[in-house]
Amino acid sequence: MVKARKYVVKNYFKGVPKREDFEIVEYDLPPLKDGEILIKTEWISVDPYQRAYNKLSKIPYDQFGLQVGVVKESRNPKFPVGTKVVSHKGWCDYTIAKDGVQASPLDHLYILPDFKGLSPSLAVGALGLIGLTAYAGFLEICKPKAGETVVVTGAAGAVGSLVGQIAKIKGCKVIGFAGSDDKVEWLEKELGFDKALNYKTVDVAKALKEAAPKGVDCYFDNVGGEISSIIINQMNKFGRVSVCGSISSYNEEGSMPKATILQPAIISQNLMIQGFLVSEWRDLMPKVVPELVDWIKSGQLKAAEHVTEGFDNIFNAFVGMLAGENKGKAVVKV
Ligand code: NDP
Repeated sequence: MVKARKYVVKNYFKGVPKREDFEIVEYDLPPLKDGEILIKTEWISVDPYQRAYNKLSKIPYDQFGLQVGVVKESRNPKFPVGTKVVSHKGWCDYTIAKDGVQASPLDHLYILPDFKGLSPSLAVGALGLIGLTAYAGFLEICKPKAGETVVVTGAAGAVGSLVGQIAKIKGCKVIGFAGSDDKVEWLEKELGFDKALNYKTVDVAKALKEAAPKGVDCYFDNVGGEISSIIINQMNKFGRVSVCGSISSYNEEGSMPKATILQPAIISQNLMIQGFLVSEWRDLMPKVVPELVDWIKSGQLKAAEHVTEGFDNIFNAFVGMLAGENKGKAVVKV
């Protein structure tokens, strides 16, 4: 009998999630049935959507999320013992999974692709759905051309840091907004952004005018809210906006914050604004991941990770990520 632990969410979060909203439950896993595998978790992902989807979930629920593990027992010949697998089994240390059972669009079980020696943890980051979000969310929607000016918010985070670097690979001028001077320095010095700005301390409209005197052609929006209205109001004719996330509102309760009206800019500048869910592009994974692997191996793309150690520290990693502690992808090593 294998003892497993999992995080159960007991409450609808009020503002910033609290430790008492979660309970770590210990339980016995049943013996495997035909087709099932036992996974020992190695890496767990903490993500903003785990905050956002709390509002939409039925309480209580097991905390879902992407994770990487190793098969410890198997009654499925496709997944022999020792195979590294990626699943959506969430914040648990051991779990049972079955191929082909899909409870949500993200709920897939797959064998870790060949990362050419890169860390398996990247399967929940740059070489998984996060990488696909940045790659497809930016290239498919913004369709950037060399020489254009691209703005990214949430620029030092998992998705944003990749978008900015992909924009540089495509020959664009890149301006990023992030929440600390340390992140600003990192974006400019380590990741090659042309300009980074601390949205907490600058006058966003003025600083953007100075950084992008010819206007903005593409905007990759991770945060929503007023900063997005300011950026969209500085866009050029036929500008493209990819709406990826709205993290500035995830911890809000009740009525949503208001932001400056966008329609005048959308109309006068012929803007195209499109939202997406990365699951829509899942089929692109086999094409995109090898390209991202090559970019990382050749040094064109840095896949930064912010690693927290220990199963008991997942909650801290989660709220730390929401508060902006991470540079790159926030992951937990179990
Ligand atoms: P990040 O690694 O970017 O972590 C979240 C970051 O958000 C923090 O580090 C913090 O950085 C920033 N942040 C927190 N609160 C605020 C706020 N009030 N205003 C502005 N920034 C804030 O997370 P991800 O890269 O995983 O996700 C980025 C966005 O992409 C999220 O909105 C997420 O929901 C979305 N997403 C959407 C997907 C889709 O399919 N559409 C798929 C994956 C992600 P800072 O210090 O800069 O404030």
